[in-house]
Amino acid sequence: MTAIAHKKPPVTDDVLDYRNLKEGEFWRHVPAYKDVDEATFMDHLWQQKNSVKTPEELLETIKGVCSPEFFADVAEGFAKAPMAVRVSPYAISLIDWNDPINDPIRRQFVPVASSLLPDHPRLTLDSLHEQDDSPVPGLVHRYVDKALFLPLNVCPVYCRFCTRSYAIGPDTENVDKVSLAKTPAQWQDAFAYIAERPELEDIVISGGDTYQLPPKNIELIGNALLDIPHVRRMRFATKGPAIMPMKIITDTKWLDAITQVVDRGRKLGKDVVLHTHFNAPEEITGITQRAMRMLFERGIFVRNQSVLIRGVNDTPERMTLLVKRLGMMNVHAYYVYMHDMVKGVEELRTTIQTATDIEKFVRGSTAGFNTPTFVCDAPGGGGKRDVHSYEYYDRANGIAVYAAPSVKPGKAFLYFDPIDRLAPDAQARWAVREIQDQMIHEALRNAGVGDQALVTA
Ligand SMILES: *Cc1c(COP(=O)(O)O)cnc(C)c1O
Ligand code: SF4
Repeated sequence: MTAIAHKKPPVTDDVLDYRNLKEGEFWRHVPAYKDVDEATFMDHLWQQKNSVKTPEELLETIKGVCSPEFFADVAEGFAKAPMAVRVSPYAISLIDWNDPINDPIRRQFVPVASSLLPDHPRLTLDSLHEQDDSPVPGLVHRYVDKALFLPLNVCPVYCRFCTRSYAIGPDTENVDKVSLAKTPAQWQDAFAYIAERPELEDIVISGGDTYQLPPKNIELIGNALLDIPHVRRMRFATKGPAIMPMKIITDTKWLDAITQVVDRGRKLGKDVVLHTHFNAPEEITGITQRAMRMLFERGIFVRNQSVLIRGVNDTPERMTLLVKRLGMMNVHAYYVYMHDMVKGVEELRTTIQTATDIEKFVRGSTAGFNTPTFVCDAPGGGGKRDVHSYEYYDRANGIAVYAAPSVKPGKAFLYFDPIDRLAPDAQARWAVREIQDQMIHEALRNAGVGDQALVTA
């Protein structure tokens, strides 16, 4: 046989690096988990029971690893945060405690005061205005044929950047939460509304988080929606696989409940899938791979929605690594969201320009169906917009103008880049209220719309 003439040089190891997942008992480097065996660490109840919710619990867990200054920083961060804190042992064990400030998992879940930046002057708490599109508690009907059902307000972890910090988690020192419908009796109103709207074909069950629904309620919700003839598609949304993948492996009743709804849906010709939320490539370990394999074997399709977060996945290399790892687990990378304009997490946001640059790099690196669409959920209730589809983008002042003709015709929506990412002269302009108004007026004019089209965020 003659040697094959390769046209490409052999790949270097770094190209295949995404296949190297953390294996073994990696949690034992955390002082509190050094004697925890595999069976215990894999137990979802142990994970829930040992989740960290206070600075004192964190101190107890990583005693001896971090400096007293870091703890003071964390304690102050907790006090200032709009979200409650809850971090699973799995996530704690993935943090590099030798450099917690820069760690991508720490940045998402554990607030530290020294990193905080002032909010953008145009930020609000419910930046997506979900309350305005909510006909009954716990249901958001914004788009024509799909709705968002929020049956609970608890999650297995709390993300600092949560877009629903207005409702999710217990009250904090800074925020009294809006209450969602949280009991099966209260859910009946949402089911009745959906049944009365024949255009609704697609229901996203989010919250809160499907991980926290007991199996009987997964079946209750799933079957109630499957029973509505015009509902054709459902997605159960959960952060769980990213921060507590062992639940899929060890909470058999929960997985069986999801499987029951998926299987019944399939027999009815209806599409029931899982949507999850991986942000950092480090969240994907050997445990995740086993968990996702179980879902795949059961025919449960999984899509991923990430948030573009500064210091977590905001470079072409980090995002590509994440996308390749998701593909390896048969998870379709569906969306990457611009970080919503929520309070108290300005150091996690980045610019529209960064998103478009990363998108350009990621596209072409793997299968098209594994390539996420980068979207901006337009503040003020415009819904998701392809980041590139702005009517106008003032890069210097960090103002993007979007339109959403099929959601809110005739309206204009603004996304603002974080101010610390702008040049000093632009930062100075944002310090003056009248100049802010002028810059916004200019941007709207350049987008070809008048000031009256603006939905104020
Ligand atoms: C994101 C979202 C949906 C689902 O939108 P897709 O683009 O189909 O994923 C539905 N309703 C609301 C309110 C949403 O925010
Ligand atoms: S899991 Fe989702 S709903 Fe819960 S805190 Fe995180 S982003 Fe918010």
